[in-house]
Amino acid sequence: MGEAPALCVEDLKERFSNGFGLRSKGFETSTDLGDKTFVIGCNNNDSTSSLEVHIYDKSRGKWVIPTVLGIKPKPYEGHSAVLLNEDRIMIIIRGSTPDDCIWFLEVDTEYVKQQKKASDAEVVAWSKGVRGDAEKPVVISGPSGVGKGTLINMLMKEFPSMFGFSVSHTTRAPRGTEKNGVHYHFTERSIMEKDIKDGKFLEFASVHGNLYGTSIEAVEAVADSGKRCILDIDVQGAKSVRACSLDAVFVFISPPSMSELEERLRLRGTETEEQIQKRLRNAKAEIEQGKSSGIFDHILCNDNLEKCYENLKKLLGLDGSVPVNPKPSPNGIDLPWNHSVSKIDNKIVIKPETPESGNASKNLMVLDVSLLKGGAPSRTRGLNVYTIDSISDCLNGIHKPS
Ligand code: ADP
Ligand code: 5GP
Repeated sequence: MGEAPALCVEDLKERFSNGFGLRSKGFETSTDLGDKTFVIGCNNNDSTSSLEVHIYDKSRGKWVIPTVLGIKPKPYEGHSAVLLNEDRIMIIIRGSTPDDCIWFLEVDTEYVKQQKKASDAEVVAWSKGVRGDAEKPVVISGPSGVGKGTLINMLMKEFPSMFGFSVSHTTRAPRGTEKNGVHYHFTERSIMEKDIKDGKFLEFASVHGNLYGTSIEAVEAVADSGKRCILDIDVQGAKSVRACSLDAVFVFISPPSMSELEERLRLRGTETEEQIQKRLRNAKAEIEQGKSSGIFDHILCNDNLEKCYENLKKLLGLDGSVPVNPKPSPNGIDLPWNHSVSKIDNKIVIKPETPESGNASKNLMVLDVSLLKGGAPSRTRGLNVYTIDSISDCLNGIHKPS
């Protein structure tokens, strides 16, 4: 990919003055970082629009439209922008829902640096901020027919409130009883390729001649429901997830022998002879990689199914009495509609502003961003939210009991 096309300043000015917001009701912000100014805003704020990003490169005197990865936030009724850690801009959106009001635009994080290097273009990436942590997802890989699906079904059946399955996208045709949206999102290649280009996928790979991939939403929908996410993906996919910001447990399931694997594939009876041969050919390389690449934290041999299942439960800490599913902490943040934002160290202080409250407002909200985890292309987790009575409480580290 070449350099992003440059716009002349006049073009941009016209674009912005047509509603992007230089005049603005708060629909546009600009944030300086080194030689660059990141301008975030929208042309209009109807329900279909999203926040757009333009960069002014001061050293070259040029406007650049970057490649924007991740799902973009909706603009609602204006936003504030605060630079954090010199690598991301926190966006606080006014008038949105509690679970949609904090976003992060990554402009120089490790993930963004990698993407810039890979595409040789200017890149930024969105990620939605949520409170609290999610349990580490579990990535399960292994050759086709080894028993991954069987083991995952057993886990989901025994602990239905604890685990949720990440429903992948694939371009392969559904098998007999497979349902769209349950086993896979069956999709057309051109649509999936466009979504991959738009940064909606955590990982993707060409497996046995078809495209398979995990969308960011598939994983986050499970985490947002308070469940632990299970991903059934191939070794290439596991490698990509290892390289991104998602902190997961990686488990490789190996067969007792190639002949046993072949027998299982045949007994399952879901593939043609040609497809079985292809899957067996690929299995050899997968097993080699799975066992030697260092990607996996655990390798389990699925010889005896019950034994393998017990070992899987053990490594997930489920071998004792049935654990109580911890109550998920709320993801959302109830922001006052009218507010001002300030930054004190790693704390963002949001002050409600009403005509009556003036400067005497109590109940300032603090977003502590010192323990952020994850990030683009997934969610940014670990936002700590509490209230204080005054700015001096923030300086003194005092906060009200929640
Ligand atoms: P994968 O999801 O890895 O492609 P499946 O879970 O569909 O594999 O399992 C393939 C076939 O092997 C299924 O018919 C399943 O019932 C069978 N199977 C799974 N584990 C075992 C095992 N330990 N011993 C014998 N058959 C097994
Ligand atoms: P199947 O066609 O048998 O359902 O799956 C074939 C292979 O694709 C399996 O090894 C499975 O783990 C892998 N797979 C399924 N979903 C994904 C995905 O989202 N990403 C990747 N990389 N592999 C996947």
